[in-house]
Amino acid sequence: MDYEAHFKAQIAALHEEGRYRVFADLERKKGAFPRAARHVDGAVSDVTVWCSNDYLGMGQHPKVLEAMREAMERCGAGAGGTRNISGTNHYHVLLEQELADLHQKESALLFTSGYVSNWATLSTLAARLPDCVVFSDAGNHASMIEGIRHSRAECVLWKHNDVEDLDRKMAAIDPARPKLVAFESVYSMDGDISPISDVCDVADKHNAMTYLDEVHAVGLYGPRGGGVAEREGLMHRLTVIEGTLGKAFGVFGGYIAGSAAMCDFVRSYASGFIFTTALPPALAAGARASIQHLKQSQVERARHQERVAKVRRRLEALGIPCMPNPSHIIPVMVKDPVKCKQISDWLLDNYGIYIQPINYPTVPRGTERLRITPSPVHSDEDIDRLVNALSELWSQCALSRVPAAA
Ligand SMILES: *Cc1c(COP(=O)(O)O)cnc(C)c1O
Repeated sequence: MDYEAHFKAQIAALHEEGRYRVFADLERKKGAFPRAARHVDGAVSDVTVWCSNDYLGMGQHPKVLEAMREAMERCGAGAGGTRNISGTNHYHVLLEQELADLHQKESALLFTSGYVSNWATLSTLAARLPDCVVFSDAGNHASMIEGIRHSRAECVLWKHNDVEDLDRKMAAIDPARPKLVAFESVYSMDGDISPISDVCDVADKHNAMTYLDEVHAVGLYGPRGGGVAEREGLMHRLTVIEGTLGKAFGVFGGYIAGSAAMCDFVRSYASGFIFTTALPPALAAGARASIQHLKQSQVERARHQERVAKVRRRLEALGIPCMPNPSHIIPVMVKDPVKCKQISDWLLDNYGIYIQPINYPTVPRGTERLRITPSPVHSDEDIDRLVNALSELWSQCALSRVPAAA
């Protein structure tokens, strides 16, 4: 086989479909977010980032940076081993206690990333509960899908956010079999929020465990940043709450929280937890400082929601179609992969505005979009420049507008 030719043909197919991914080469500027330097062929320009998952700007928060500096000075760079073989640092232990407290659970367990926490936990639970059936929301993230697939357990997809469909599908399975319902709170591409309470009711009715991915909600919702389940007083109803330290908390890493026995079980059996080097202590220290800060400060969450509402209002007033949702994610619908990429390129090259185009397979074909994530550090001037630029490009591409809502 001509391996190189095969790789090139596969890449050419992506180009043809207009969904070849080009990474923006950025240098984030501490103290100046959402500003970043953009590198193109040796040239450097300034851009404003409008698509970051550092939702609250915690990646530049002085308390977070100070905690990381201090931990690095005390402990050095890496953890030096897997958790089992010399790599458990006191900062990991403190962070796990912080996370258990955040979600009001007995225990928590750290992973290399949110992706790995989903993959490792779901694959371990579903594989090691005898004859387990997983009920997976059809909109679930790739990391959950891959974890479930790897478990080789039977998987039943239920219609996105449709608890009646879930109930029907659960009723069709032998009541004696172990069951796990896997879903998310905030879905990251549409920004819709699941009916957590109703899902828990159905799961209880069928004696199932519940697994909730709160990756796009931790730090952002709830009086202490515990996520949508905290806001709605539902944390105690979930068997597993999973989150990331890399998005609103602004650092890196993933975790689960739940009962002591469940966490100990995953700790003891999950290959993706056991056979990998522990997080650098400085990351654990920074994440802990971020969580501690967001547990008691409402300023960031309030300003975040205010900025989101303002951007949405301004875009809607211009008839630029935003998918309606109750969260902080603003999907501006282009519905064409080539135009979506083109608008994104023009924004970047001519206006210094960076919004990555979101195309298939991240979203279904025909729903290509610009996913805008306003943050507390975007100014009124930033918002003016964003909406004016989008409005100009909308006209230039002859994209249709929606009548402004009354
Ligand atoms: C980003 C994401 C993850 C993975 O989290 P990382 O910490 O970035 O690996 C998991 N679930 C969802 C829904 C995500 O969007």
